[in-house]
Amino acid sequence: MSDAEILTLTASEALAAIAAGELAGAEVFGAYRARAERDREAGAEGLNCFTWVAPETGADGSPPRDDSRPLGGLPLAVKDLFCTEGAPSQSGSRTLEGYLPPYTATAVARLTGAGAALLAKTNQDEFAMGSSNENSAFGAVLNPWDRARVPGGSSGGSAAAVAAGLAPWALGTDTGGSIRQPAALCGIVGMKPTYGLVSRYGMIAFASSLDQAGPLTRDVADAALLLSQMVGQDPCDATSLALPEPIGAPSAESLSGVRLGVPSELTGEGVEAGVMEAFKHALDRAQELGAGIEDVKLPHAPHALSAYYVLAPAECSSNLARYDGVRYGLRADTQGDLLEMYTRTRHDGFGAEVKRRIMLGTYALSSGYYDAYYGRAQRVRTKIAEDFQRVFETVDFVVTPTSPTVAFKLGERTADPLSMYLSDYCTVPMSLAGIPALSIPCGLSEGLPVGFQISGPAFSENRMLDAAHALEQALGFDGGGARV
Ligand code: GLN
Repeated sequence: MSDAEILTLTASEALAAIAAGELAGAEVFGAYRARAERDREAGAEGLNCFTWVAPETGADGSPPRDDSRPLGGLPLAVKDLFCTEGAPSQSGSRTLEGYLPPYTATAVARLTGAGAALLAKTNQDEFAMGSSNENSAFGAVLNPWDRARVPGGSSGGSAAAVAAGLAPWALGTDTGGSIRQPAALCGIVGMKPTYGLVSRYGMIAFASSLDQAGPLTRDVADAALLLSQMVGQDPCDATSLALPEPIGAPSAESLSGVRLGVPSELTGEGVEAGVMEAFKHALDRAQELGAGIEDVKLPHAPHALSAYYVLAPAECSSNLARYDGVRYGLRADTQGDLLEMYTRTRHDGFGAEVKRRIMLGTYALSSGYYDAYYGRAQRVRTKIAEDFQRVFETVDFVVTPTSPTVAFKLGERTADPLSMYLSDYCTVPMSLAGIPALSIPCGLSEGLPVGFQISGPAFSENRMLDAAHALEQALGFDGGGARV
């Protein structure tokens, strides 16, 4: 098989070819490694997806092994914030520039244990704070559909790499939308599992009660396959959970008997007309496949962003206290005392958005304000989770557009943090509720992809993947416009 042919295969297709003896995992790795390396070397002419690409022989100096393990030597791109032993893990920050962790994150270790080969680390917003990838210390990532536009964030490098065909699939993380929103803006599939399903051990933390790892893939079958190999309880993460059943390969072709709830709060004002049109078109297809469509109410969802922008900064102000110049990465060269070293290091190491969040979070947690901000936001979070519980008594899934707009222009929202925060209007409620949600591409608006979000109760991953698969087949979205 030629390299060009290899690059057109989904991961599941490549594995089938490997199983049939038509292809070796090392050939797939070699084809993608060459593409990824070219993008990295192209600098400003490339998409800037990668912060590190594996040397020809693989990270540990040995060639990727071809064997009968479930992921058969296939290459995998991994978001920068996953610790990977021997490969830089910088979370998009100057603070961690060149940091080589002494161990590998559980999610990555499970995948490489299942036969995946580490292809590259992907660019991201600094400490996963952002919706456009413009907050990376290593430069913005470009959207392969239109290079004047953002790929979304914070897993922008992972999404752009998969959409452009520079990686067969990738790992990302989602705290308030960082897998789903870039997947939507790049026209691929992105899934945030139930909180706890994937171990957070070795993920450089942003907001620990929200952070969750998940797949970014070309189709739903690949998302199920990648997820199936990363889930499970981990003694190193006390919040990790055992999945009641294994993740299977989705096969549904119909949506007969499936009830989809459309919440008015997340499908009205603020959603672009072209996005709404593509969303409604997908609802029509779902109905043709047998789904019932119902209006539902999530009365507290409009307050999700306000609660999130108290809770996530509060948690990040605590998590990022460890970057003091003593234990990791950057240390400012000062003549002064210890306090001055701490202060200069944090001044030089963090970008503007990270500093904004640390200040917001520190304020929200300060004595006298704790209950008025943090306590109140926690109560709103509970109300949002209860809204979903009530709705799932009458419908199987809640569906919304993933992002209120298509990919926006580079620089368009950088001067106005509030407009940037609105990017996650439709994805943050599910994060606060800890429930699974995925985005599939459902069409184009102004020539740019639109994402369709499906969310369900905790642990409904298998049913959700089945429903998404049936709808994906009926929609027949063509991602060819993004291939480089
Ligand atoms: N865009 C949101 C934020 O900046 C979500 C980020 C994420 O999910 N990591 O916090």
